[in-house]
Amino acid sequence: MIKEKYFKGDRFSLILVLKGQSIDKKFEIYYNIRSLNLIMILTSYNNLSLFIKRHFKTLWPYLNITKIFNILLALFEMKTKRAKCFSRPFIYRVDPCSLCNLRCVSCVTPWVKTKEKRLLALEDFKKIVQKIKKFALRTSLYDMGEPLLNKDIYKMINYASDNGISTLISTNFNLFNQSQLESLFNSRLTVLEPCLDGFSQENYIKYRQNGQVEIVKQNIKEVMEYKRKNQKNLPVVDVQVVTFDHIKEELPLIANFLKKCKVDHITYRQEILGFNSPQTTIAYKEKINEKPCFWLYLGMMIRPDGSVYPCCGRDFDRFSYGNILNQDLSQIWNNKYYQFSRSLFKKGPDLPYDPEMLKIPCFTCPQFKIHRKMKITS
Ligand code: SF4
Ligand code: SF4
Repeated sequence: MIKEKYFKGDRFSLILVLKGQSIDKKFEIYYNIRSLNLIMILTSYNNLSLFIKRHFKTLWPYLNITKIFNILLALFEMKTKRAKCFSRPFIYRVDPCSLCNLRCVSCVTPWVKTKEKRLLALEDFKKIVQKIKKFALRTSLYDMGEPLLNKDIYKMINYASDNGISTLISTNFNLFNQSQLESLFNSRLTVLEPCLDGFSQENYIKYRQNGQVEIVKQNIKEVMEYKRKNQKNLPVVDVQVVTFDHIKEELPLIANFLKKCKVDHITYRQEILGFNSPQTTIAYKEKINEKPCFWLYLGMMIRPDGSVYPCCGRDFDRFSYGNILNQDLSQIWNNKYYQFSRSLFKKGPDLPYDPEMLKIPCFTCPQFKIHRKMKITS
């Protein structure tokens, strides 16, 4: 019932649902709901070698000695499951806009009412870059909404590029137009990921409601023509296609179109949001591995108000681990929430914890499957 309510888009308040429940019940409810939110990121990125394989070519030019040393140290600390880390995160996702022009069926963004839905200010983005630039290798500028809704998006990409950070945006590409071509290429964006999940308008809007597939196709075509004409290497254009059941027959048409446009890469993603059928999420749940979660050692998510999260759970009002706009990166990275989250993956004696820790997403995440006794300490 809770899942149905969630997918219909009603705002889900975890606090209300958990209030008055026993701890066992809280675990059960929290696990079921959070696992749906986390499933996308876990299935997409829970394999570090896949991440490296996919992104290495676009990341290595941004390496320097300090960054290489930090990466090696982070990998060592992940391997040895340290709770307190000397290394710092180097893969970031900074959300420039948590609002969207589309109303995709399984996405919470169009439906949720929360103060978290806002634009990131350019000045705040600059402050974030100054705090992370020493170790940051990649900053993806998207998370809960459409990045092109932020009018300063190209200035942000430009600023990150000036500070030696590789950038990536994923966009529904409905808001792009020819007048933005120069800004896009001048910003030195590293990877552009437009989403094309349909060839005919009729099928495209079954999931991407409010969208215009012809605009997306035209934009992809124009970007590739501009890139060729001006002999630009960047951005690498990697078109994302979610293989929904309702577009299966259109997949050859999509592939043919993208081939004609000479896009750099096409990534086919399996539908894991429960749109085709609820079984897709369950099937994926069983595949999740039990290695330590690499987000807790290598990455960080930052929302437009500066709130920090360990990973992108695709929902709002999660428990925040800190705020990068008024705290130091080091202070957040080794605070009690991060250290506790990392400790969850260690085997060993009972782990004392404060009841406050019940709020952290890692506690009930499908990625964390080590069964250990918990003692509540106050
Ligand atoms: S384009 Fe992305 S953010 Fe916008 S509604 Fe669709 S899935 Fe959600
Ligand atoms: S363990 Fe924590 S950081 Fe890792 S995916 Fe789960 S909630 Fe995110």
